Amino acid sequence: MHSLLQPSPNRFFAEGFIDEEASQMAVHRPLRSDGKTFEQAAASIRNSRVEHLYFFRDDKQIARFRGTSNYVNPPEEALLRMKDCVVLHNHPQGTSFSQADVKAVVRYDAAKLIVVSPKYVYTLVRPKNGWGIKFEDTTTQDVLEEAIASAQDILRKEEAKGMIFSSEKFLKENDYVWQVFFSHFHIPYLYEDRRH
Ligand SMILES: [Zn+2]
Repeated sequence: MHSLLQPSPNRFFAEGFIDEEASQMAVHRPLRSDGKTFEQAAASIRNSRVEHLYFFRDDKQIARFRGTSNYVNPPEEALLRMKDCVVLHNHPQGTSFSQADVKAVVRYDAAKLIVVSPKYVYTLVRPKNGWGIKFEDTTTQDVLEEAIASAQDILRKEEAKGMIFSSEKFLKENDYVWQVFFSHFHIPYLYEDRRH
């Protein structure tokens, strides 16, 4: 059920396993004239049981989409509007970005990606000179595969030492992968634990 282990290159913003039937249910809600501010939107989707996706440009909400419990899949033409936007998204299960999330943000050149959940906030910031990553390059794929392998290795060791429960591995895996992956590219990736 790990999207990182079962990449789905044609889907965007999937947190985990993709349910083909549910994918037909992804809805695009028309934008209201009183679109929420970033803070209002973040507060309202943080505890949502379904995934949402908002684009903000110059602090104004320009698009929003609502998905299912494990993914939101906007149409391609909508994704083109992501350029230079702050992308706000939520993961009901509390995991960090999926591969699809990161690939979409890099491909459509968004300025920032923020994923909120009841307990955690994950943030990815585009460097001043641009993302500088091409996922279609073999070297990038190699770095990603090494990051996945090293994340799994760290998780196995933490579990063996009794530092984490087996059930926490799913929650932490993406976070560990991105810590390793983005440090390789010197791209700021942060996570904030809101439980403290
Ligand atoms: Zn996602």
